Order: sequence, then C-alpha cells, then structure tokens
Amino acid sequence: MIVTFLGTGTSQGVPVIACDCEVCESMDYRDVRTRTSVHIELDGLGLIIDTGPDFRQQVLRERIIKLDAVIFTHEHKDHTAGLDEVRSFNFKQGTDMPIYAEKRVLKQLKQEFEYIFSENKYPGVPRVNSHVINTETFSINGQDILPIRVLHYKLPVLGFRINGFTYITDANQISKEEKEKVIGSDVLVINALQKESHISHFNLEEALELISELRPKKAFLTHISHKLGFHEDISSKIPENVYLAYDGLKITI
Ligand SMILES: [Zn+2]
Ligand SMILES: [Zn+2]
Ligand SMILES: [Zn+2]
Repeated sequence: MIVTFLGTGTSQGVPVIACDCEVCESMDYRDVRTRTSVHIELDGLGLIIDTGPDFRQQVLRERIIKLDAVIFTHEHKDHTAGLDEVRSFNFKQGTDMPIYAEKRVLKQLKQEFEYIFSENKYPGVPRVNSHVINTETFSINGQDILPIRVLHYKLPVLGFRINGFTYITDANQISKEEKEKVIGSDVLVINALQKESHISHFNLEEALELISELRPKKAFLTHISHKLGFHEDISSKIPENVYLAYDGLKITI
C-alpha cells in the first residue's frame, strides 16, 4: 500500500491568509500545508479520504490519474469543499464517482452541493454514487475498510483502518472500544493541531500520549496549524517513531 499525504494543514491551511508569523513566512516547503487529505493506492485500487478546498491542486501535483472512490471523515468544509472537482474523473473514466460517508454527512453534502444530487442535472455537473457507511466494516472493490468512531468536540467523525494503516483526523476523543480497533497498526496517522489545548483537536502532547498508548510501529501527525511551529524544529523534538507529515510525503506500508 502506498499512502500519499495530499494535504496536512488545518482548516485555514499554512500559510494562513494575511498572517505574517515566522511559520507562515517559512521558506521550507514542508511548512506549506494544504488542507488535510490522503490518497491510498493498494492492489490497483485508488482511494482518497476527503476532498478539501485544495483537492484540485493536490491531485494535479501528485499526478493522480485514476480514482476509484472517495471516503469522507465528516462534513466540515475543509474536508468537502473540493467535491465538485471529481467531475474530471467522471469525464476521464466515464463512470460515476462512488462516495462513502455517514448518513448525516451525505445529508450535508446534498445541501451544500444541491446541483450534484438534483434529479434534473445540468450537463457537466459531477456524477456521484452515494454509499451510506456507519461504524461497520465496509468494502470497496473487495478491500475491507474498518471505520473507527472518534469525537471532534461533540461531532461524531470517522477514522478508517485499512489493513495495517489507520487514519484519524479531526478528533480529540476516542473511546476505549474504538482504540482497540487501532491496536496493531503498522502506521497511525493522527491529528495534532498545535501545542496549546484546543476544543476539537488533539494538541501535540495529547497526540503523542495516544501514540504511546496505541503503539503503532510508526505514527504521522497531520491537520497541523501554523501555531505548531516549524516542521524542522518540531520534527527534532518528537519521539523516533513519530513524524510530522508534510504535503507530498509518500509512505509504503
Ligand atoms: Zn478539518
Ligand atoms: Zn501564521
Ligand atoms: Zn473538522
């Protein structure tokens, strides 16, 4: 399995519009973070988790030429705003794009992208096939995917485990039972927003605590704010098996 970090930034991205802090002005390419998303490739299957506002640029940058399905973690705009762009894959592949999300998330997508889901579609609009998921294992082209329930302040969000890879973004609470699903992961991706506490995201310290509790072989931090600090500086201060993800990073699992 090859996982590519399409984006690793929090909702505003890094640099933040109109911010002149030192991280936003950094010349290190690893400090430039588009909105959080990953591409997963395994046995010829191409999946993307979340289509944020930077979806088009990310897919062009990584030269992704085939996409079999999109899976959504939750309905926040930084994870959904790019849905319109799947139409390029509709045209290229000649098929509707399967999208997988919880019932509540699909309802929100239908409100925000009314034209995509309307009965009488305007020519050229994106074509999607909606699949409702919950916390039960589901399968895409024969590949099992295990959803993991996490809480993002009070909002129920899904993380996903695919074989040895677990991806959790936008969370600050995970129950004991759901943590069990993560145990034994080769790679855990987890959100770590900043050093200070936050109402809806794990901060750096909380993410590191969770990693030492769940003991994946390797962990990657994502959904990062400019407030976390420089990539290089933070990378040198975290444990050996923990890495800050950055846009364009590819890992093989
Ligand atoms: Zn987010
Ligand atoms: Zn800044
Ligand atoms: Zn969110």
